[in-house]
Amino acid sequence: MLNDLQRETLTLPPSPLQEIFDERVTEAGLRLLVKRDDLLAPAPGDPWCGNKWRKLKYNLLHAQEQGFDTLISFGGAHSNHLAALAGAGRWLGFRTVGIVRGEPIASPTLERAEADGMELHFVSRREFSRLLSEELPRAWEVKYPRHYLLPMGGSNSLALSGCAELAGEIINQLGDAPTTVAVSCGTGGTLAGLVLGLRGRSRVLGVAALKGDFLDREVQHLLQAAEAEEHEGWEIINDYHFGGFAKYSPELLDFIRWFQDRHAIQLEPLYTGKLFFGLYDLMAKGYFAPGHTVVAVHTGGLQGLAGFETRFQVKV
Ligand SMILES: *Cc1c(COP(=O)(O)O)cnc(C)c1O
Repeated sequence: MLNDLQRETLTLPPSPLQEIFDERVTEAGLRLLVKRDDLLAPAPGDPWCGNKWRKLKYNLLHAQEQGFDTLISFGGAHSNHLAALAGAGRWLGFRTVGIVRGEPIASPTLERAEADGMELHFVSRREFSRLLSEELPRAWEVKYPRHYLLPMGGSNSLALSGCAELAGEIINQLGDAPTTVAVSCGTGGTLAGLVLGLRGRSRVLGVAALKGDFLDREVQHLLQAAEAEEHEGWEIINDYHFGGFAKYSPELLDFIRWFQDRHAIQLEPLYTGKLFFGLYDLMAKGYFAPGHTVVAVHTGGLQGLAGFETRFQVKV
């Protein structure tokens, strides 16, 4: 059974919807609003936040109802998903296990996950792919008899249901459906959830954070698995990944600093920096018709900033 505090962590009030103003937005003739899911967390700075809070919400309720006591999932050494899972486990009293791809390396993300009680298993890339696609080894089944397994990035149908709630919140806060809702894409789960929730009332624009044309197929697949009625009205733009996941350029970092200066909203270079960089570039190119309202989802991810700065020896 969950106590009241635990229940509260699963029913947070809507994050703010904040309109932002600057000359570039004015020039494009748009309204631009930011859905501040970076502020969506059971406590400020908690790694269980942003879109990872939404993606885990119904998975955690399901695991709790089904009597699972252990949550197991997969990720890289800088995975926001694993950090969030560890945080959620600490709040809700689940044991958490992270299967990490590659050799152990110094990572503030994994240190935090361990501090939040996560058990880490480092496996080779080959072993990692095998574990992702097959069942867990017998020994693990014995060690964690009542475990609930979450896919890499946490994207499954229950994750989509959590992200679908963004739609109602945005429409309520704005008083109408915006023309476009824009979001950064890793696995595409958050975008698929938006499509599910918006049911065609707004266009959904995804900006891919990594290279690979697998995303369109993946989103279709997720929508089918969730038995979504609406499969149309979304698009993924692959022009702003800066060469791939965790790749960046000085221009991207400059943009992030400009945005922070101008709007006092912190972005990070893996996901949200690329989203807003892309949106501002598309605005300048006349991609959005004047008079349109664009809501950009700030999916959070700020826990990853320290890891990024350590890894690349830069200050964002
Ligand atoms: C994980 C993550 C994403 C990607 O979400 P998907 O549902 O995998 O597409 C986007 N933004 C942030 C900040 C994230 O941590």
